[in-house]
Amino acid sequence: MKLLEQLRWGGEPVCPHCGTIGQATFLQPANGVSRATRTGKPSERRVWKCNACRKQSTVLVGTIFHGTKISVRTWVLVILEMVASKNGVAAREIERKYELTNKTAWFMLHRIREAMKRDPLAGLLSGTVAADESWYGGKPQNQSKAKRAPRRGWHGRTLKTEKPVVFALVNTATGEVRSRVIADVKGPTLRAAIADEVEMGATTLVTDEAKGYRQLSGEMKGHERVVHCRDEYVNVNGYTTNQVEAYFGQLKRSIDGTHHHVSREHLARYLAQHDFLRSTYKLDDSTRLCLLVEQAGGRRLTYKPLTQAS
Ligand SMILES: [Zn+2]
Repeated sequence: MKLLEQLRWGGEPVCPHCGTIGQATFLQPANGVSRATRTGKPSERRVWKCNACRKQSTVLVGTIFHGTKISVRTWVLVILEMVASKNGVAAREIERKYELTNKTAWFMLHRIREAMKRDPLAGLLSGTVAADESWYGGKPQNQSKAKRAPRRGWHGRTLKTEKPVVFALVNTATGEVRSRVIADVKGPTLRAAIADEVEMGATTLVTDEAKGYRQLSGEMKGHERVVHCRDEYVNVNGYTTNQVEAYFGQLKRSIDGTHHHVSREHLARYLAQHDFLRSTYKLDDSTRLCLLVEQAGGRRLTYKPLTQAS
């Protein structure tokens, strides 16, 4: 917890109740180490009392750690595993290694992924941004005929399918990735997804030859296309979509190799995790941990409260 206080507060405790900074007193337990909780069990939680509003709190309030019975130590170890592994960590692995119940392991992983979500106020991407999309669970043309709806259009791109489409943007200079699940690959859908994340007039968009991107060419600073069906991987101006394709390759390996299957509703959280890991690949693991803890402030997953101790 001391480490967390250092990471989150940098030496100046912040009151989660009234927002006062650096005006809290550390409450030293009577025996110097721990105090009894309501259940009578000793707790080593470091409690602070705000001098302004007189309320007590700990560094855990407002973080993903808040309100769980899992020790901060376990949290930190699991987060480190998650930020250190390229392919992500399976809940079962965490369960075995830290002797947690299945439910607890799942809960922890989901909370950490929640913290990995980018700040909703993060700025727009600009510069050179590569975009691509892929069906989660494979392209529809690989599905059995009975399962898929009739083909319409070229390259299998506009096939009707129930499979979710993952759309990803990569800033080719910084490596920052932003992905999301979109409803289809039609022009207006792609445009909306791009307008949400990209400063269009200041960005050169790099895509493959997919039709959906054509109509927004005029709104962008530039639009470079790489024509894959002509076996082109770098276009005449030197632009490529390699980075965004690498993103999908990694996502697929991770889901196939570690998680086997991700339900549709959890897909967005997995994407957040991948975006975080790929966007921060230049940082070392402890810096990523700090970043995550900072991002965790104020984010709570509205899951059922965890009942079992672990
Ligand atoms: Zn206060």
